[in-house]
Amino acid sequence: MSKVRVRFAPSPTGYLHVGGARTALYNWLFARHVNGVLVLRIEDTDPERSTDESTTTILDALRWLGLDWDEGPEVGGSVGPYRQAERLKLYQEHARKLLNEGKAYYCICAPEELEARRKAALAAGISPKYDGRCRERGNDLTGVGGKGAAVRLLVREEGGIEIADLVHGPIRFDRTDLDDFILLRSDGMPTYNFAVVVDDVLMGMTHVIRGDDHISNTPRQIALYEALGLSIPCFAHIPMILGPDRARLSKRHGATSVLAYQQMGYLPEAVVNYLARLGWSHGDQEIFTQEELVKYFSLEKVGKTPAVFDPVKLEWLNGQYIKRTAPDRLTAWLRPFWEATGVRQEELFRRDEMWLQKVALLFQERARTLTELASSSRFVFDGKIERDTAVTRKVLSGEAKARLRVLLSEIEALPTFTAETLESLFRMKATALGLKLVDLAQPFRVALSGKTVSPPIFPVMELMGVEAVQRRVEEVLEGEG
Ligand code: GLU
Repeated sequence: MSKVRVRFAPSPTGYLHVGGARTALYNWLFARHVNGVLVLRIEDTDPERSTDESTTTILDALRWLGLDWDEGPEVGGSVGPYRQAERLKLYQEHARKLLNEGKAYYCICAPEELEARRKAALAAGISPKYDGRCRERGNDLTGVGGKGAAVRLLVREEGGIEIADLVHGPIRFDRTDLDDFILLRSDGMPTYNFAVVVDDVLMGMTHVIRGDDHISNTPRQIALYEALGLSIPCFAHIPMILGPDRARLSKRHGATSVLAYQQMGYLPEAVVNYLARLGWSHGDQEIFTQEELVKYFSLEKVGKTPAVFDPVKLEWLNGQYIKRTAPDRLTAWLRPFWEATGVRQEELFRRDEMWLQKVALLFQERARTLTELASSSRFVFDGKIERDTAVTRKVLSGEAKARLRVLLSEIEALPTFTAETLESLFRMKATALGLKLVDLAQPFRVALSGKTVSPPIFPVMELMGVEAVQRRVEEVLEGEG
């Protein structure tokens, strides 16, 4: 069998959304699994809706997810995507070939006329199809003048078309549903179906893996392969993604842009893992390394029914990834998130990398996102912290403040300021005062963090250092907290 070649073909009319990213991922996994080739093709033949900005954000999102592609024109020393807008001549050449062979014809029907006929058909309860009135014209433009003409495919009307979809199984289409559809508009721009087929042919695609919202385009595309006399690739149409209410996933279900997940503190590995499982499975396994995904992925295991996007599960999975991530990678990711919580750039610059890693290690256990990790650990850095005044008032009563005061002076006298020396000091003090350890630890936690929940307080205190601890506690004692 010839080498597998697949493509991801986004239209640059917005950001890369969750559904598009999953299509890209399934193409990527399929290609990597069989050691095939992935091509990236930007389908920008609609000048009104396509923007360079969208192309850039789509490429950024693919790079963030770690989905690389193998072929394309060289752009600035790296492999760029193909852009349909740069390939117009190729579509025009193929249209000419079809015209010359009598398989396509010029159509000069004006858009207003077509619209009027469409409306009339609808009013008469007939499905609106082009009536073929320009068929006779064929390849002849005499008398058209400067008006311009579209090019239509001459579609044979008998029989059915069947594809063996790799996800849905056999799908049958009736040719009578097809009409002579447009290949090139009168301005020379190709239609979506035409550009896709010409490119899939020229790029040697063996498989077309895309969302099943494209199933309805498939018979037209097959009619085109037939007209061009070319073999038809394998199709795999992936079911849509639905929101928790089972309506098609949209903005009203929350963020659908992949890069929004980056901004919300998700790790690319977690998003990839989540998207891979959204419609595909390998037994009950939930967490996969990238190697495992590549090894196990197959289109046969892609479900036939739509998958439901579950933001809670994605968040859970992200937490699992945060827990497993080495602290040096975490700190690299966390820097902008710490800054966003108000940690000053100078401090991040001044702090030793090992210190930052210890912070990440201490807080990574509970955080589901980098945003959460950054905000829960914000208090170990310098500067004022936000305090929950009700909590402060409740936990830091007069009695608790007196305990803070006593311990503060004892802390100062410690020969070394470590989690162990602090814990034994607190334990000794608790026994002496007939209290539980928590009665002393909790006021410290609240004084230092402003909250009642934090990782174990002694390692946190060690990380903050004696001076920062004193300063923070004094703030509350002096009533500034
Ligand atoms: N450009 C189309 C889209 O963004 C995809 C076309 C295809 O995969 O055939 O939906």
